[in-house]
Amino acid sequence: MPRQRAILITGCSSGIGRATALEASARGHVVVATARSLPSISDLEGSRGIRTAQLDVTVDASVARAVAAMELTEGRVDVLVNNAGYGQYGAVEDVSAEDWKAQFDVNLFGALAMIRAVLPVMRKAGSGTIVNVSSVVGKIAIPFAGPYCSSKHALEAMSDCLRVEVEGFGVRVVVIEPGPIGTKFGDRARASVAKLVGRPGPYAKIYENAERAMEEDFQKGSLPPEAVAKVILDAIDADRPKTRYAVTTMAKTLIPLRRLLSDRAIDRQMRKTLRIRKLG
Ligand code: NAP
Repeated sequence: MPRQRAILITGCSSGIGRATALEASARGHVVVATARSLPSISDLEGSRGIRTAQLDVTVDASVARAVAAMELTEGRVDVLVNNAGYGQYGAVEDVSAEDWKAQFDVNLFGALAMIRAVLPVMRKAGSGTIVNVSSVVGKIAIPFAGPYCSSKHALEAMSDCLRVEVEGFGVRVVVIEPGPIGTKFGDRARASVAKLVGRPGPYAKIYENAERAMEEDFQKGSLPPEAVAKVILDAIDADRPKTRYAVTTMAKTLIPLRRLLSDRAIDRQMRKTLRIRKLG
């Protein structure tokens, strides 16, 4: 029987975060489910022992408040699930500097702020688990999703450094790499690029094809968020979790394949999938 842990989860308004909160409470853990907007998680409050709290990972005061409140009420933060995130799509050149920065503010610096806030608590306890929800695109970069892929690559690298830096304190670091998952993520990613699609510009033609590929080819074999939640909880409950967990057949196939194929071979495959021909 795995021991009961106190788990703090970011981004529980929908998708993987919400499913993880429900799976964790079903397994008997103490859960603090958080979201930017408290009403978006009000239905979770009190259900099977879940507590809710407001938390925007880009606001330092909000991060500090949520972690301090959990330490006060639960006396511990055994596990942090860094789940909050979104996908900023668009050509590298086309996405505004502001939107690039906003992507990193949530997906990388938001996770970092959370890690900084919980580590002193975990160190004091002599144990803890940090689960960073990355993506298959943390290992493979998909053109026209540059800001998102870059932010997840950075999260992967940060996790690799952190894992070795904190293991001596009894803190474990786990990376989750899902492929396509049926959540609000897709709609939000589409919205992130909507202002770039349909306007004249050097990438206008490609956006049309890229949009189709994102919606069809890159969605093949998608799983519900509960599948990711189960993997996250298996990692938390494991005596010795793996460093990385790929979820979906796509992620399990593409990540090892990326190591075997040359950069040129990957480029060719991306061009084919995105139906990119030479422009000029
Ligand atoms: P989702 O349904 O859109 O959920 C994303 C969550 O992140 C929402 O709760 C959202 O809250 C929250 N969030 C965004 N910005 C935030 C901020 N500044 N502070 C706190 N919360 C914030 O999508 P999802 O698929 O469950 O995504 C969860 C994680 O899985 C993300 O890190 C994503 O990159 C990763 N992932 C998803 C897929 C996929 O195909 N769905 C694949 C691989 C990895 P609001 O409602 O307030 O915006």
